[in-house]
Amino acid sequence: MKILVPVKRVVDSNIKPLIKTDHSGVEISGIKMSMNPFDENAIEEAVQLKEQGKVDEIVAISIGEPKSQDTLRTALAMGADKAILVSTEHTLESLAVAKVLEYFVIKEKPNLVLMGKQASDDDMNATGQILAARLGWPQGTFVSKLELYSNYVEIIREIDDGQETLKLPLPAIVTTDLRLNEPRYASLPNIMKARKKPVETFVLAELGVDITPRLYIQRLDESSPIREGVIVNSVEELIDKLQNEAKVI
Ligand code: AMP
Repeated sequence: MKILVPVKRVVDSNIKPLIKTDHSGVEISGIKMSMNPFDENAIEEAVQLKEQGKVDEIVAISIGEPKSQDTLRTALAMGADKAILVSTEHTLESLAVAKVLEYFVIKEKPNLVLMGKQASDDDMNATGQILAARLGWPQGTFVSKLELYSNYVEIIREIDDGQETLKLPLPAIVTTDLRLNEPRYASLPNIMKARKKPVETFVLAELGVDITPRLYIQRLDESSPIREGVIVNSVEELIDKLQNEAKVI
């Protein structure tokens, strides 16, 4: 049983992102970058499944600038066996990422792709779904519990009015929610061991995958600050505030 875990290098979630002065995107030069939090859940789950003896190999893959190697080293230190770096200077949208992942799914033949439900930088929440559609594989998104069997995976997914339990025949795509598990910290000995684990490097431009963008960012702005709410004691007080303070009725 082999699991492929795509991991993305994003602005660390403890850092307040700064918008570039030309409003074309978020400033990342000199900013602390880390593994996308949902991808940490995916690696953690894969490692737990390996510890339970249900998985033989975990392959982590990252597509991005060469520095994504740091993110892969974190994945290896958490317990992945091998890493694949697909290096590119381009910022890729979900469709292009899914095409690159499809290329490596065909090459690596995993039984399960376990990935984040969304990347915390652009919150697209699309790559897993596009990949499943392209491969014609079953998908389970927003997964908060997972049981792996030899030819299917049973998942519980978070939906608006509760939880949905699904059985997906393998191979399948599963995207993780934060509730799935508590990702471990990589210990120092494991960080050292990870340095000896293999990282295969590919240059995206040499793969023949079409990454032509279909989306163009026109402008990025900070959202306006949320005004503090007020708790009123009566309907009369609410109506008074709406009439005389907010002046909306
Ligand atoms: P998104 O659809 O962009 O919100 O991302 C969903 C998931 O796709 C992430 O949690 C990752 O598992 C994966 N992913 C997105 N972009 C990349 C990337 N550049 N490299 C590796 N995995 C990625």
